[in-house]
Amino acid sequence: MRNNTLLFDIFEMAGIVVVFDFDKTIIDCDSDNWVVDELGATGLFEQLLPTMPWNTLMDRMMEELHLQGRTIEEIAECLKQAPLDPRIIDAIKSAYALGCDLKIVSDANMFFIETILKHHGLTDYFSEINTNPSYIVEENKLRIFPHHDFTSSPHGCVLCPPNMCKGIVMERIKASAFKEGKKQFIYLGDGKGDFCPSLRLREGDRLMPRKNYPLWELICSNPLSIKAEIHEWSDGEELKRILLYQIDSIVYGDQIGDSIIYGDKNTSDMLVSSDSKFQSSLLSAHNSVPQVLRVVN
Ligand SMILES: [Mg+2]
Ligand SMILES: [Zn+2]
Repeated sequence: MRNNTLLFDIFEMAGIVVVFDFDKTIIDCDSDNWVVDELGATGLFEQLLPTMPWNTLMDRMMEELHLQGRTIEEIAECLKQAPLDPRIIDAIKSAYALGCDLKIVSDANMFFIETILKHHGLTDYFSEINTNPSYIVEENKLRIFPHHDFTSSPHGCVLCPPNMCKGIVMERIKASAFKEGKKQFIYLGDGKGDFCPSLRLREGDRLMPRKNYPLWELICSNPLSIKAEIHEWSDGEELKRILLYQIDSIVYGDQIGDSIIYGDKNTSDMLVSSDSKFQSSLLSAHNSVPQVLRVVN
């Protein structure tokens, strides 16, 4: 899958870790809502939502679907239909081929994520999936548990839901990546739960929030809190183009900007793509604070 070439070595030596959220980032829906809606349990879900945490509710919904006679196979078939933009599949394969270490941090659950990745042939591209554990138990029933055991050892983060603090997961990923000599991070996400890990990124890292989604809105209202460069995206085409450009820009650094300015054909030929328009829209939306948004072309 990966070519053993000099170019690949250059990229791999850059030590880039790409961390993806899953729902509304890799797939273009929320997998929990997708299963509940597709299997006709939306009414009960909405009725119970005010009474318990989301993660606990999903475990309960699996119980309800089981009682209604729904099988694991039906749930899996439903998950396979979840929308996934082919350009995001390309982006994942290209980032992997360029030597990046790809990981998932998601508040969905292991069964949902593994089923979807496997269906699209993407399982082997990810070195790690951090999510809520799930198990098939007696009589073909799926159980979903919290990532952190919030009854015996609460994580204590006020930004995150009790079952999972993605920031804590991100710190662990960073610590083990540094040990392996990997030093730069690109984080892609859309939701409120992606704000905490975004705060753990440092200067030189890249944060790719999905435009007009809750993470993007949180960043817009707290621009000083983010140290990483911010590069927004809206759809699969932009995710692919911007992610691959960011990988290039980490590897080649300022040479990319210079090559564009000075028209250095040899370097610009190596670019996967270029992007410049998305930062300007984030800036224009928040003209009062452009100096604190570390955006580059
Ligand atoms: Mg998400
Ligand atoms: Zn947190």
